[in-house]
Amino acid sequence: MTREAEYAGGMMDKRLQTRLWRVLLVIAIGGIVSSPFRSIFADDAPATGSGLLTRESQHLRLTSDVDDPALLDDLIRSFEDALPQWLAFWNVPESRIANWKIQAYLMRNVDTFRQSGALPDYLPRFQHGFATPHTIWIRYQDTTYYNRHLVLHEAVHSLAFELFGAGGPSWYMEGTAELLALHRDRVPTPSRQRRMGVPGNAGVLAQSMDPFTINQLPRNRIDTPGWGRYKIVSQHREAGTLPTLKSVLKLPMELNGEVEAYTWCWAASSLFTNAPESRTSFLNAARRGSDQTEAFTSEFYRDVAEQWPVLSARWRLMMNDLDYGFDWSRHQVKLSTSDPRASGAPFQVRVTPDQSWQSVGMWFPKGAKLRFTAKGRCHVTPDWVSEPAGITLEYHRGDPLGQLQVCVLPIATPAEATIPGLDIRPVLTRTDVSKFKANTPDGSSDDSTPIPGSNVIAINEPSWVLLRINLPAGHSPVETVDGKPEAYQVQIIPSR
Ligand SMILES: [Zn+2]
Repeated sequence: MTREAEYAGGMMDKRLQTRLWRVLLVIAIGGIVSSPFRSIFADDAPATGSGLLTRESQHLRLTSDVDDPALLDDLIRSFEDALPQWLAFWNVPESRIANWKIQAYLMRNVDTFRQSGALPDYLPRFQHGFATPHTIWIRYQDTTYYNRHLVLHEAVHSLAFELFGAGGPSWYMEGTAELLALHRDRVPTPSRQRRMGVPGNAGVLAQSMDPFTINQLPRNRIDTPGWGRYKIVSQHREAGTLPTLKSVLKLPMELNGEVEAYTWCWAASSLFTNAPESRTSFLNAARRGSDQTEAFTSEFYRDVAEQWPVLSARWRLMMNDLDYGFDWSRHQVKLSTSDPRASGAPFQVRVTPDQSWQSVGMWFPKGAKLRFTAKGRCHVTPDWVSEPAGITLEYHRGDPLGQLQVCVLPIATPAEATIPGLDIRPVLTRTDVSKFKANTPDGSSDDSTPIPGSNVIAINEPSWVLLRINLPAGHSPVETVDGKPEAYQVQIIPSR
């Protein structure tokens, strides 16, 4: 099967597909076009044989000294696939960019481009890439993923110039560029088919492709080789130096290619676009992109100020858990500043494995003390069933897999520039379970009787209280026969 036919079998918009392949076909026939530097903004390409390769589509012209036609085709196609998704992200009609086209240079030997004038001397030196309204420059990277990532990142800057005059201050401009550059390549979908019991037939797999999608969180290292942001998050998490959400908004205009700063901007943008409290304000702010001053940030902050405690709390949770496999659909914790105050009466909640942290639905005043009982079973892997104390044969981040955990999350925003670590504790210990079983002759193999936990959680300042089952990022709950999620049943007993 040809590559075109495979691709056409995918899930892509037909109109775009036809247009794109027509363009690529023309380019492929055109072959190597060179020395386009006489006028770098012009779309006409004089060919004089300098060994540079050019590929062209409706909105992108890509010139490179990297002798890898397949890579260039991939970059062109990825860009054209990303473009309608970027417009959808910003809710801008496709007609808005009908005549928009940029020139991109993918450079292995930067001097070649400097000498020809394609890379003007007046541009600042850059480590990875650089964007102006109509031209982007990218230094060649070792992995296809990261080449694509950088082309998309710089192209988002150019698009922001076109649509909004500019991309706003650094945290917003770099955050959105990273968000919209982070992508998942079109890949066969063997895992889904395996789940559905389709045998591993190469012919069947080739026809089923996941589309190219932007704004994706990497599931594993293989998804985004060269990107490495999660390593930075975990290093700072271990060192206790993760920034507060507010300090990300105060990053200077010039980030000087600092990977740390890009990481925080991206993570904040991911949070702001996924949190219901900020999504609309964040997306609307793009319209004010020509304002790259603090006024832009002040206005955004004003828009979300009432919800800031919730956003700040979400940031703390996100930064604690962010890792390969992190998936916003599992992090929809219901937090609100209008949650009721706990009445002091005991109450019950169900904690399910389909979500990470789950709020008990109210806030607790300073001085409250909480005790818990818990019961129930749930699969933590297809083969392992856990009870609330967890499975001591399998661990995730140092704690037993399947362990029921409690987190006291202060409502007040941290005053420091870095976020304090989260206070996470087991609800039941192994000792609690052993003691209980020793005193309950017939209860040893029964999960229907709640086991009292010996941990008493003291509330030191007004706080939300969250519960979760300790599971790795990217955990998929086991499908149950009746379709209802498995759960632990927890009773919360407040006292003074
Ligand atoms: Zn950038």
